[in-house]
Amino acid sequence: MSLDLQGVAKSYGDVAAVHALDLHCPTGQMLGLLGPSGCGKSTTLKMIAGIEEVSAGRILFSGREVQALPPGARNIAMVFEDYALYAHLSVFENIAFPLRVRGTPKPEVAGKVGAILKLLRLDGIAGEKVRKLSGGAQQRVSIGRALVRNPEVIVFDEPLSHLDADQKVELRTEIKRLQQLQGLTSILVTHDQTEAIAMCDVIAVMNAGELQQLGSPQELYDRPANTFVAQFIGEPPMNLLAAELAPDGRLTGPDWRLPPAAARAGLTGGPVTAGLRPEALRLLRDETGGDGLAVLAGRVAFREHRGDTDILLVALDAPGPDGAELHVSADVPGPSPLRQGDRVRLGFDGSRLCLFDPVTGRNLQADAPLATEAAA
Ligand code: ADP
Ligand code: MG
Repeated sequence: MSLDLQGVAKSYGDVAAVHALDLHCPTGQMLGLLGPSGCGKSTTLKMIAGIEEVSAGRILFSGREVQALPPGARNIAMVFEDYALYAHLSVFENIAFPLRVRGTPKPEVAGKVGAILKLLRLDGIAGEKVRKLSGGAQQRVSIGRALVRNPEVIVFDEPLSHLDADQKVELRTEIKRLQQLQGLTSILVTHDQTEAIAMCDVIAVMNAGELQQLGSPQELYDRPANTFVAQFIGEPPMNLLAAELAPDGRLTGPDWRLPPAAARAGLTGGPVTAGLRPEALRLLRDETGGDGLAVLAGRVAFREHRGDTDILLVALDAPGPDGAELHVSADVPGPSPLRQGDRVRLGFDGSRLCLFDPVTGRNLQADAPLATEAAA
């Protein structure tokens, strides 16, 4: 079942929680709603589920309008961050609960719950009280309870928030496996970009109740629609540098320059914000530079080992526009022998550069092909 939101909005009195939102999730895919706390993710989810009424707009399930239907008529299941289980009941009884309240005959309950227990690999603990289980196992039970009704859409609101790191990764994989196996149209609400990128086919990045960009994880990463998305996706976030663009595509920073390039020619010249992913910066070991390579010089302010790469935080020699010290992050092969205070030179070319409007933050090349396509 496909899902569409058309101009969906929600206000609580004077507070506009969600502004005219347009979203599309194809059948069998997982759509992520990603953004900081308070940006309207849960409100959007509740409107889809029918727990909150829309203030404006239409919600379509496979083209059929549902925004006026009560939750029970939408065949949608929800999984919450706090599991919302009956602690004194067994795993089996928690999963059976939605069937029991509908008066499903006993043999049918046994068959359906049995299949779900097997699917979620919970058959070994079917008789246990859920309060004795780990957080990860409890969340698997609540997913089982959601699946047992055979919903057309399943929505998850921060399902991994209360789990520790190992359980997070394990359940993330498990949810993805189930979602793909069942071909379930799903929505995942999260504030964690790593989670959204790992699990979702399409991600809607939201901020302050407004959609910033709807795209695949790769699109958001390579071609962020604005500086908000550029800095929300990726860790460490994209570096943003003030620069001046000439009409022929020449790009000039305080102490660096890139020659004219076709990809930048044709854009209106003037001040721009140049965006560079940390891994687009290369550590230069000698005095190389020029010839299409821009160089940022500075000192290592901090180094973080990450196994086969090191993240360097470099304080640049050239100060920022306001005279303050400017830092960039670089993702370089590790382990590097560099220490705090060491001088470094970081090189970059124009191939993986994004250009943003310095006032609105909008990507000036939003229609440009993906870096991966351009390279092919
Ligand atoms: P998120 O899930 O992204 O953290 P929410 O959708 O919960 O954000 O909230 C979006 C905005 O709407 C917030 O400013 C929040 O305070 C407000 N809000 C949410 N629910 C209500 C409510 N029942 N009454 C008033 N304001 C609300
Ligand atoms: Mg929320």
